[in-house]
Amino acid sequence: MIGDSVTLVAPFAGWLAPLDSVPDAVFAERMMGDGFAIDPVEGLLRAPAAGEVLSVPATAHAVTLRLDNGAELLLHIGLETVALGGKGFDARVEAGQRVAAGDPLIAFDLDAVAEAAKALITPVVLASEGYVLTLDATGRLVEAGASVARIARAEPREAARAASVDERFEREVIVAATHGIHARPAARIAAALRPFVAEVALVAGDRRANARSTVALLGLGVTSGSCVRIVGAGADARAAVEAVAELILSGLGEEGAAAPAAPAIVTQGPVCASPGLAIGQALQLHAADQAVPEFGKDAAAERAALDTALAGISARLAGARGAAAEIAEAHRALLDDPELLAAANAQIATGRSAGFAWRAATVEASAAIRATGDALLMERVADLKDLERQVIAALLGTAEASIPALRPHTILIAEDLLPSQFLALDTVNLAGIATAAGGPTSHVAILAASAGIPMLVAAGEGVLAVADGTPLILDADAATLTIEPGPEALAETSERLSAVRERRAREAAEAHAPCRMADGKRIEIFANLGSVTDAAAAVAAGAEGCGLLRTEFLFLDRATAPDEDEQRETYSRIAATLGERPLIVRTLDIGGDKPVPYLPMAGEENPALGLRGVRLSLARPDLMRLQLRAILRGVPAGQCRIMLPMVADLGDYRPVRTLLDEVRAELGIAEPVQLGVMIETPAAAMLAGQIAREADFLSIGTNDLTQYTLAADRGNAAVSQRVDAMHPAVLRLVREVGKGAAAAGRWAGMCGGLASDPLAAPILIGLGITELSATPASIPGLKAVVRKLDMNACVALAEKACDAASPAEVRALAREALA
Ligand code: PEP
Ligand code: MG
Repeated sequence: MIGDSVTLVAPFAGWLAPLDSVPDAVFAERMMGDGFAIDPVEGLLRAPAAGEVLSVPATAHAVTLRLDNGAELLLHIGLETVALGGKGFDARVEAGQRVAAGDPLIAFDLDAVAEAAKALITPVVLASEGYVLTLDATGRLVEAGASVARIARAEPREAARAASVDERFEREVIVAATHGIHARPAARIAAALRPFVAEVALVAGDRRANARSTVALLGLGVTSGSCVRIVGAGADARAAVEAVAELILSGLGEEGAAAPAAPAIVTQGPVCASPGLAIGQALQLHAADQAVPEFGKDAAAERAALDTALAGISARLAGARGAAAEIAEAHRALLDDPELLAAANAQIATGRSAGFAWRAATVEASAAIRATGDALLMERVADLKDLERQVIAALLGTAEASIPALRPHTILIAEDLLPSQFLALDTVNLAGIATAAGGPTSHVAILAASAGIPMLVAAGEGVLAVADGTPLILDADAATLTIEPGPEALAETSERLSAVRERRAREAAEAHAPCRMADGKRIEIFANLGSVTDAAAAVAAGAEGCGLLRTEFLFLDRATAPDEDEQRETYSRIAATLGERPLIVRTLDIGGDKPVPYLPMAGEENPALGLRGVRLSLARPDLMRLQLRAILRGVPAGQCRIMLPMVADLGDYRPVRTLLDEVRAELGIAEPVQLGVMIETPAAAMLAGQIAREADFLSIGTNDLTQYTLAADRGNAAVSQRVDAMHPAVLRLVREVGKGAAAAGRWAGMCGGLASDPLAAPILIGLGITELSATPASIPGLKAVVRKLDMNACVALAEKACDAASPAEVRALAREALA
């Protein structure tokens, strides 16, 4: 040992190879750490250096050691040898024992193991962070005891960075210094960061600068009163970001600094956009804009070129299938948009090239959308950007976006991702996606969910600092991204992944049988739908019906309102796809966070509290009548149930009941059609018993009920952690609904997001919910959980949950009960 450097000797005679040559991605891609491999020619593994044995599994196929400089080493004889159950292996040491270099660790039967295992090649992996391994020349035969590598402590900065870049933190502050960030304040920021190892950047608008670089900070041109985001990634990111924030808020040491105009905002962590778990390596997607000439040939030629490009893309989009088809349809509508075309043609008329004109038109349209500040519309900006790139690529005759070839187990990282970029990805090798920006309801999130790719959005700018090839664990369910996980986390996650795969296969095999609890009580498991494609997926996943058809989703991206025949045709296709299964059609829930272009509404100060859902339908009985006619004509009466959104009391229900009966009479439909009420307002929950005496059924929309109960906007990222439907206050309202429905002899179901959460199922059932309408993908898992439940236990759990003090307490109770 020289200082902190330890020499490693070959643990047996064999062929020394780089880790990359191991035919197992976990080792080859250094998910566990750096190291080397030896293909043994003898059956005795010896200590490569002096140290302490940390562990030897019962199967004796591997051993971990702590060397004298503190570095931990894993020696894994062969690949997938755990499956041999210890056969052929004989451990010569035990945990806690000290060994010298060359001491025997594990003896093994070379021939027997070679025959039974996937491979004999033995990875030797440096499993601790903060050290570097230097490997001698590989590709040669070595004797046992020959020097092969050295392990030394990394430089302090490198070590700390290697130790954990999974801490990411960001904060927004208003710059109080009178002259903004000029030379002296910039130097102070850089100096303040010296004690820290984290990478820290300042982001102002669309500019970003390394906060350790005075020159880069000056380039930001930040003036007093501007808002800057401080973004950190690294072992001490939070402390580093806080130090810079404090410095900026205190006026950067400048005289006469103004007090901050607004309080600092701590941004929230990542948000799950598509559930799932993945292990992989980072790949940053940098899609640069292609340059276009400003001026073109003559206007007629440029116009013709644009028309050809648009037609070509439209034709290509027409070929999209599955979930992609609906998004392609929305894109085709944008390609045909008269305003967009008029704006592009106006540019061409001034001599601009087709590419320049198209970019200018899409940029202008995006700016107009951004100016609305509407989170849902903001996602259309991504669609426009996507089409900008596609059309320009077609005009230039170049390859579209710079989508890289993916290596197996890639976790793609991007500022944001466009639907066409997603569709160009090789999803076989794509393990997961994390975007710095983006929203969980974007088109790309829908695509990722339908392709079964876990995805996190709003992960913050810190993710953009992660180097390509960095090992990652993306746990979308837990909304975490772990950067450079340790070997234990990797091993634990890969075990979880295998268990998830096995469990899913078992659940899918059982998903088509009707769902009953262990004590025989029937619980209906239905699906939420927003398209014909969803209906097919729901049937395939074992849905017993549709508990919520969001009809506004069918016609969201359109410039004109769908007429009666078009609506009837769509409803009838969904009904046919569901076969005999019941179909609950919700009347249009427009307004609030779901505006539609074909029904412009006056601006509202609080749209969530404004003219939305049934309120709008009552204000526009013409639209309501047309939709009821289309539903009754499209869905067979025996299959059809209708449901009203955003009801507060019977005053919202009775006029629709009258209208429905009139429309039924008009169409000569004698059979009664059930009309139910969504419980989405605290008012409706408190009046559930009264409402249920007239309504045919109740279905709780927890997404809205939660935002109204907790006074926390479901679309506002700053309060997103508060919008938690497992809150005891929300559960108490669910209890009111369960009781009210039972007293009136009606059923109460749930179609809000909470219904898809298997952890919530025992509580909801205990509160009297007998129908759960969930996302198609969650149905098999939900059925599996419900089948194990017993009503008495659910009732007891539900009561405890209502008495809990926080959603976290409720979850802990549910976990305990399900365990
Ligand atoms: C709800 O609010 O829970 C619900 C199901 O309706 P939406 O999410 O469409 O508002
Ligand atoms: Mg709702």
